[in-house]
Amino acid sequence: MSASLATVSYIAATILFILSLGGLSNPETSRRGNLYGMIGMAIAVLATVFGPRVTSGGIAWVAIALVVGGGIGVYLARTVKMTQMPELVAFMHSLVGLVAVLVGYASYIDPSASAGMSGAETAIHHMEVYVGVLIGAVTLSGSVIAFGKLSGRVGGKPLLLPGRHLLNLAGLLVVIWFGYAFMRAPNIQAGMMPLIVMTVIALLFGIHMVMAIGGADMPVVVSMLNSYSGWAAAATGFMLSNDLLIVTGALVGSSGAILSYIMCRAMNRNFISVIAGGFGGGDAKPKAVGGPAAPQGETVSVSAQETADLLKEAKTVVIVPGYGMAVAQAQHTVFEITKRLRELGKTVRFAIHPVAGRMPGHMNVLLAEAKVPYDIVMEMDEINEDFPDTDVSMVIGANDIVNPSALEDPSSPIAGMPVLEVWKANTSIVMKRSMASGYAGVDNPLFYKENNRMLFGDAKKMLDEVLAALRA
Ligand code: NDP
Repeated sequence: MSASLATVSYIAATILFILSLGGLSNPETSRRGNLYGMIGMAIAVLATVFGPRVTSGGIAWVAIALVVGGGIGVYLARTVKMTQMPELVAFMHSLVGLVAVLVGYASYIDPSASAGMSGAETAIHHMEVYVGVLIGAVTLSGSVIAFGKLSGRVGGKPLLLPGRHLLNLAGLLVVIWFGYAFMRAPNIQAGMMPLIVMTVIALLFGIHMVMAIGGADMPVVVSMLNSYSGWAAAATGFMLSNDLLIVTGALVGSSGAILSYIMCRAMNRNFISVIAGGFGGGDAKPKAVGGPAAPQGETVSVSAQETADLLKEAKTVVIVPGYGMAVAQAQHTVFEITKRLRELGKTVRFAIHPVAGRMPGHMNVLLAEAKVPYDIVMEMDEINEDFPDTDVSMVIGANDIVNPSALEDPSSPIAGMPVLEVWKANTSIVMKRSMASGYAGVDNPLFYKENNRMLFGDAKKMLDEVLAALRA
């Protein structure tokens, strides 16, 4: 493929990526957005592999890498459970970071990478290597810890080292100092030591940064690392002088940054405070995820039949899905129930909290998979005021996002986070298996409210029973 055709292909891929992001901003156009993204990526890969910079001997290596990497990707995509998606995404971010580090080292060591460059160009190239490895290493280790936290292998409690801000500041100064030494190094051997020291500090910083963030703030971390992975890809693009990678990385980086901002707003958090760490802990110590909540009063349990009766009597119903719906894979039954209730003349809507589940958009994806019409799926801001006029609010495997203590208890780890005010409905029904707490490890006073009913059991099993009772 000629250089000009490769350039044209890159421009086409860039346009498709931008259209893809545009499409993904709305559920109705998201399928088209995904399609644009897939076509753009196919063009990008083909234009790179058959482009002027890969020699005929190199194509064999690329083909081997594509088969191995693609094989692993297909295997993971087919076997990963929906509930493991957030961990998988965190894991993939760590790979982007690792690539930036490896490409950085390779293009520094490889003399051909800077062959023919003038002094100024070489200096710019070395700066790209240093910054690229820095961003890559922070993304790599931060994402590994996020993977651990999301999969429950690392505890959700924030790790607050004494003088942690000073520690971070000292790390930054050392990185700048070694950057100076790196830029002044007379040869590659002399530059290796500052580069390695900086990599180690960046890796430690990534670990420290994510360890210091409390469980309740993990949604921001996930979107933030998404953004970092974009900047790491852009840095790789600079090191390889690949314009498409620079543009794509910048698109991912900036959209991830916007998402982080949206998540912060949704949780009523200040971005800087989240990054500085220590949030999500609060005065009241959070318990381990899923730990039993301290009893705070009486709960009233109902059966599936009683739940169906309450739904039959209701005119307006709001369904609030949470992480438990994803675990139970109950979305299809939820939609069957919705259809049945609509046949019975009820108004049924869904209320989606921005941090429901374990990744941004988690609930929207599940409901779209079950083919729930978009026009009855409401954002938190659109529906929160309607709860007082709702007969039944049905909470399916959600906990933190419907916890009134976020509004009522200033010492709560989730204090200040806007929540879906389901308790304002005539009756709220919470479906979960036990009295266990949610991700943030916080007790939930909703369970003890007078107008609340608990339907204990696996969400899928209980909803199947509710559906049978509704059809009877
Ligand atoms: P929660 O984790 O607060 O609660 C989920 C509830 O589902 C649990 O209390 C659990 O109770 C119940 N559950 C689990 N399995 C089942 C099942 N098979 N059947 C029925 N119920 C089940 O989830 P929410 O969606 O309410 O809130 C999301 C939380 O995750 C927030 O704290 C958010 O900050 C955090 N988070 C969100 C991210 C995002 O980007 N969206 C990323 C990382 C964290 P029981 O065990 O009793 O059944």
